Amino acid sequence: MPAFANPTEIARETFKRLVAQRVAPTPENYQKIYSEISGKPSAINNHEASKALQNVLRGVAKKNPELKKTVSLLDKAIAEGDWKGVESGFSSLWGKQDGEKASWADLIRDLLKQWDLKQSGLPVARKKEVLERVLINFASDSAVLHQKLQALVKGWAGNQAGQAGDMLDEEVGAEGAVAPAQGPRPTSEAQLLAVNAIFLSKENFGLLREMLAQTLEVGIVPRLTQFPALAGEANQLAVMARASESVAALDKLSKMLKKFWINLELRGESDAVIMDGLLKLLKLLVDNISELSLDDQWLHGQIAIVQEIISQPLNPRVIYDVERSFKELIFKQGALKQGLNEAKSTLKQMVSSFIDRLGEMSSTTSEYHAKIGAYAEQISKTEDINQLNRILGGLMSDTKGMQLDMQRSRDEMEETRKRVEAAELKVKELEAELDKTTRLVHEDHLTGTLNRRGMDDAFAREFARSERYKTPLCIGLLDIDYFKRLNDTYGHDAGDEALIHLVRVVKETLRPTDVIARFGGEEFVIVLPESDVEAGVQTMTRLQRALTKKFFLHNNEKVLITFSAGVALRMPEETADAVIARADKALYQAKAAGRNRVFTAE
Ligand code: GH3
Ligand code: MG
Ligand code: MG
Repeated sequence: MPAFANPTEIARETFKRLVAQRVAPTPENYQKIYSEISGKPSAINNHEASKALQNVLRGVAKKNPELKKTVSLLDKAIAEGDWKGVESGFSSLWGKQDGEKASWADLIRDLLKQWDLKQSGLPVARKKEVLERVLINFASDSAVLHQKLQALVKGWAGNQAGQAGDMLDEEVGAEGAVAPAQGPRPTSEAQLLAVNAIFLSKENFGLLREMLAQTLEVGIVPRLTQFPALAGEANQLAVMARASESVAALDKLSKMLKKFWINLELRGESDAVIMDGLLKLLKLLVDNISELSLDDQWLHGQIAIVQEIISQPLNPRVIYDVERSFKELIFKQGALKQGLNEAKSTLKQMVSSFIDRLGEMSSTTSEYHAKIGAYAEQISKTEDINQLNRILGGLMSDTKGMQLDMQRSRDEMEETRKRVEAAELKVKELEAELDKTTRLVHEDHLTGTLNRRGMDDAFAREFARSERYKTPLCIGLLDIDYFKRLNDTYGHDAGDEALIHLVRVVKETLRPTDVIARFGGEEFVIVLPESDVEAGVQTMTRLQRALTKKFFLHNNEKVLITFSAGVALRMPEETADAVIARADKALYQAKAAGRNRVFTAE
């Protein structure tokens, strides 16, 4: 047994033994043990022993702040010689230590229970990771460790009740978990990533990396077709994301991603500036062309289309519509312009040959005059009848030749004049047609949808496309229900507005590739490329629903417009007329069945 040099050491040892032997900490017991250790049973100095005991207790309180209150009560009791108080103070101190022991036991029991329980989204590997993390961070402080473990067990139990999200937040977000109470807080992104990575299970982590890669490949790359360098960078980042297994690789990826986003943002800003600038330039150009080319009606048609598109907020639907009608207009005008140019050049050629002929005639006539003059002079001078006869003979033959010449020229001129007139007529006709094409092109005047002619062209184009790519194509034929009644109730103008409203809703609801044409009064044809009959019916039904949400307003009164429709899938080689006839039959059935419904054609 070691010898103890001073009373403090003896008191500490006394205290230890009191605890170890679990004897009631009465003054008698204390004194008994104290004298055993010191070997001086009769020489105990009560005051000195009390002081030593107080010192030891203060040391205990310093180490265990949660015992501070109890220790200070004990301290007071010792100072006052209140040995009953000392006894109850020590009892309460043991109680606390026993309590903590009991609570550790409970905690470990709970921990094991939750460990064994199956919790959705929380595999054992994940539990292990989290537990290790908590042990690493808080092992040095039993009280904090106890508290953190308790929170963890509570979290797992909560997760079992379906609060996985909360639990994850708690684990990762709790100040203790991410930033250990002792040791440095994560200071860099890399550290944060490292900590977070530990909390993510391997499979979840892989999923996240794949999601990032796909976001880059599917969401970003297709939007960068104009910028191959940036697109290449995005692809490379996606490859890196998939391969990033280590914290260092992730750190590198995060830095590169940051740089990429900045580049992308800069690009986006300059795109907006470029687009704005281009629009302004286009507007300037269009305004000036229309001022400069007052006579060129055909050009005005094209300019009107461009003006229309740049006067409204740009959206893909408008651009697509305008581009389509613009292309068709340019094509038609191109064909007509070619005919017109040919007719005009023929006209010019004929006018110039007419003038040549005129010149020839005048030179022939002046020659004739000169010859006549010469003959006249010869006649006035000659006295010889024979010579006069010769002169007259010459004069006669020259005059005859000239007459023939003149006759021929006159006939030719007449012929040319007729051709000029015909060519002029042709030019006028072509110009008139060009004008009409420009004005009407393919659009229905009231609703701005395609008219019948536009519809025919659209059919030809879409049928050919569907055959080329072997994709199904549907025709929807719709007819507004009780439209006559609407006209009768609100007036014809309101009826017109209702038609315009319907078309607006159709254009807002359908895909840009779907084509709408006015088939007649309040009947419209909708061409649905790449749609089978189910998709066609679905589209028409969606349209019906849209109309119940987007009301037609007449003098602030909501007027519900409904329609009935027939949908027909175009058969191979089927003509437009035939497929429309089938759709019409289905439409009729929809009407007969009570209206506001969509029927499929047989
Ligand atoms: P149902 O449900 O059977 O289709 O009844 P409905 O009244 O809608 O059909 P109906 O064919 O009897 O009447 C169509 C009406 O549409 C008749 C015509 O006055 C009107 N209409 C046709 N074209 C126009 C137009 O351009 N503007 C207006 N306001 N009305 C039109
Ligand atoms: Mg009708
Ligand atoms: Mg109708």
